[in-house]
Amino acid sequence: MTATAVDAGAVPDPTPVPEQAPAVEAPPVVVDASVGREPPPEPEMPPWLDEAPWPDDGYEPVMSSGEGYDDPDLPEPDDGVSTLDWDGLAARVAQCTHCSELSQARTQTVFGVGDRQADWLFIGEAPGAEEDRQGEPFVGRAGKLLDSMLSALGRKRGEGVYIANILKCRPPRNRDPSPEEAHACRPYLDRQIQLIRPRVLVALGRVAAQNLLETSDALGTLRGRVRTYRGIPVVVTYHPAYLLRRPLEKRKAWEDLCRAMDQIQAGQKGS
Ligand code: URA
Repeated sequence: MTATAVDAGAVPDPTPVPEQAPAVEAPPVVVDASVGREPPPEPEMPPWLDEAPWPDDGYEPVMSSGEGYDDPDLPEPDDGVSTLDWDGLAARVAQCTHCSELSQARTQTVFGVGDRQADWLFIGEAPGAEEDRQGEPFVGRAGKLLDSMLSALGRKRGEGVYIANILKCRPPRNRDPSPEEAHACRPYLDRQIQLIRPRVLVALGRVAAQNLLETSDALGTLRGRVRTYRGIPVVVTYHPAYLLRRPLEKRKAWEDLCRAMDQIQAGQKGS
């Protein structure tokens, strides 16, 4: 029997009632206007949330090594990069041989692509095999999903969006970038950020986020809170290749993108 059910023929409960027990008021009757109606529709989810293609491009980033960013404590490798214009920067990247293993193994460098006045700068980890072949970031299956994410935001590659990576060269077998490689490549990304002056940076995946923010915090810690890099808001989300394998996480990635959109809108109001 529950505390509120009363059986008329039952022996009274001998439990003493404390004096001046507070009167228990019946809860107010709330008339639920929705009773008998259809529940309100779920907020419309973008179509990319329902697509769950499986990758067939051989791109296999290391997702769960759990190894954190290791601060290499190396000297600044700027070499005047911070003063270059777009053409000078692209030329410098194309000739770069700072990382001998990467520069010998690459087909070409993968500089970045998109609108040089973009509000959004998406930052991935490093080119994969297809990117190395084509010279453009995110052109494999993960890239197709990134394009779907962009279109859910009402954007396209090249329109208000720039896409770059922590590394401009493909690491052999798609291994994680080493701290030294990430450090050597950093001035190029920093200069791209300086030239673009985006309103938001979106770090795609653990490797991008840890390197950009110079932290060893886990992705789970980095997601969900807006950080800043050089005064620009940074939103961390899942790497699209991870989302291809874990489609149920797309909903959380969509929340991250909405958070990034809020940053853009807040910036617009403030500017
Ligand atoms: N993954 C990345 O992080 N970058 C690319 O350019 C392609 C796949």
